[in-house]
Formats: sequence, structure tokens, C-alpha cells
Amino acid sequence: MNIQNLIRPVIKALKPYSSARDEFQGNSDAMVFLDANENPFNNGVNRYPDPQQKRVKAVLSEIKGVPTSKILLGNGSDEVLDLIFRAFCEPNQDNVISLPPTYGMYEVLANLNAVEIRKVNLTEDDFQPKVDAILEAADTNSKVLFLCSPNNPSGNSFSNASVEKLLNEFKGLVVIDEAYIDFSKEKSWLTRLEEFPNLVITQTLSKAYGMAGIRMGICYASEDILKVLNTIKPPYNVNELSQIKAVELLTNKELTKNQIKNILEERSRLISDLETISFVSKIYPSDANFILTKVDDATKRYNELVEKGVVVRNRTTQFGCENCLRFTVGTKEENEELIKNLLLISKS
Ligand SMILES: *Cc1c(COP(=O)(O)O)cnc(C)c1O
Repeated sequence: MNIQNLIRPVIKALKPYSSARDEFQGNSDAMVFLDANENPFNNGVNRYPDPQQKRVKAVLSEIKGVPTSKILLGNGSDEVLDLIFRAFCEPNQDNVISLPPTYGMYEVLANLNAVEIRKVNLTEDDFQPKVDAILEAADTNSKVLFLCSPNNPSGNSFSNASVEKLLNEFKGLVVIDEAYIDFSKEKSWLTRLEEFPNLVITQTLSKAYGMAGIRMGICYASEDILKVLNTIKPPYNVNELSQIKAVELLTNKELTKNQIKNILEERSRLISDLETISFVSKIYPSDANFILTKVDDATKRYNELVEKGVVVRNRTTQFGCENCLRFTVGTKEENEELIKNLLLISKS
């Protein structure tokens, strides 16, 4: 597959903004920087941040085993996804494919970018991609296929055979959104990046790494693809405070490992506790840090929980999720609070 043929003509012709930090690439502390119209008095954030976030990428590269040349960072995964739309999808002409029920941002971004979204529902019993229907829905203007695995809100991972077939046969980019991969028993597709020129993997620091507040999304792809995204990204898209915090917390590997272990133990406990709630009729298998459940009346139960001070997510309007509530796994105390209140409202 030739990536060049997927790029929008206007993007191919684009001359990117060249920032002061792009033009001078040296990084000697002894340099006198009089090139960016900054305030010279050091307060920790008076300088523009590194546009290529080299220190964060170096730490990530070590953790994930991917060379820094195949990593791009964004202001949340949402920015990364938006860059993909803007680079590859011609407004009012191209289309993308998503598989409901899934993460809502693919559709929002498609609408925002005037790109048609073709929806091919997941199977209703086990939320797996219908590979043949997806390939049938695609045409020569289908530029991106979004696979969210583990999927939000269903919680399951997609079968490896289905993903592999789609990677081989879909003629555009295949974006695998791995926001929840660190909670999964399945392996990341990162190890297969070299094999598939159309593979783009997105991850985030917002979930397992505990940094939703700093807004940092990660994109892993070939140098060919990242070259395009780097051309169009805002030069200073990841701010200095976020870069500093990311390096600090990513370096503390034990902390994250222990938190993930704790969340997974809590997930198991929450599942067994949910089994005791009379109005919970189904608990879907989860490879993520949340659990989708079917209840008797999702909106009623949602409101009752809010009344008790517990906020969960009502997913009842999503395809295949009628009367479903999604519970994020919290701390032991938070989960106990949830279960206590579910028991209370089940008895009232
Ligand atoms: C939470 C989530 C993200 C994370 O988005 P950020 O912008 O990085 O916070 C991405 N994809 C899915 C499916 C999610 O659920």
C-alpha cells in the first residue's frame, strides 16, 4: 500500500509553519536564545516547549519498545485522531468507517471535518467486528477504519484474526485505538507495526497511566504516516507542564504497575459483587477498567444512583446497549460505595 495515495492533495502541497524551535535544532544549554520573542526571565515555563517532545518520546520508546521516529504525541488522543482526519480525509468526498457501539469521538470528528461516517454495527451478542460487512461498506474513498480494542463502551477486545484480516484487506488506514490496552490480557498491536504499512495505533496517558488531566495522546505509525501528521500538527501542541509531568510519572514504573494490578483486582471483585444485584441481568466481559452491565431500567437506575451520590455512565441510547450502565472501576472504597448503593436501591 502506498500511503502517498491516501494523503489529501492540499496537505501534500502544504508548506508547514516553521517555528523558531524547529529552525534551530541544537540543544546546548550554553546557547543564548533570542529567536522566539520569549520573556528571558526564567520561571520554568517562559520558554516554548519542545515541539517534538523528545524527552517524553525517549521514555515512551523505552517502555513500549518502539523507536522514537514512530511516535507522535498530541494534546490528548482526540488531537491525534483529528490530525488523521485532516491529513487523509477530503471533506465532502471521503468517508471513514466506525463500528458502533464505540467511542463517540470518531463520529464527532467526522462531522466536524465534513467527512461521511459509515457505521457497521458490531455483532450484538459479543461485540465483534463483522469483517465481510465492513469490507463491503468500504469503497475507494474509505480512508480510515476505526477499531477500538478493547472497545469502549463494551469492554471487550476484538478477535486477532478479524483485526488481521481487516489490516490486510482494508485499502485505507486502520486506526486501532488502544486507550485501554494496559488493562487487557491481549497483546498490543505495537509489535506488528512493521508488518502493516496502513496500521496506526493510538494510546493515551489518560487511563492506565493516570494522567487524564495533562491531555497527552500517543500515535504510533510508520515514518511515512507520521511525516504527514507532523507537517500539520500545531508546532507546540503539547505544553511544557504536561511534558514535565509525563516524564516524571512515566519514569515511576512501579507506581503504574501497582495501580493497574489493583484496578484489575478490583475489577474482578466488582464483577462478583455485581452478580449479587437483583436488577443486573448481564455483565459483559471486560478487558478494560470499566464494566458494561445490562439492568432492568438504565435511566431509572442511573437517576437513583445519582441521588445517592454515585455517577455512572448511562449507555442506553447506544446501539446494542439498551438498558446498559457502564461502571468505571474505582478505588476499593469507591467500588464498595457503588455496590452498597446498588444493594440499597435494589431493595427499595
Ligand atoms: C478515554 C478514551 C480515549 C482517550 O482520549 P484522550 O483524548 O487521550 O483523553 C481515547 N479513546 C477511547 C476509546 C477512550 O475511551
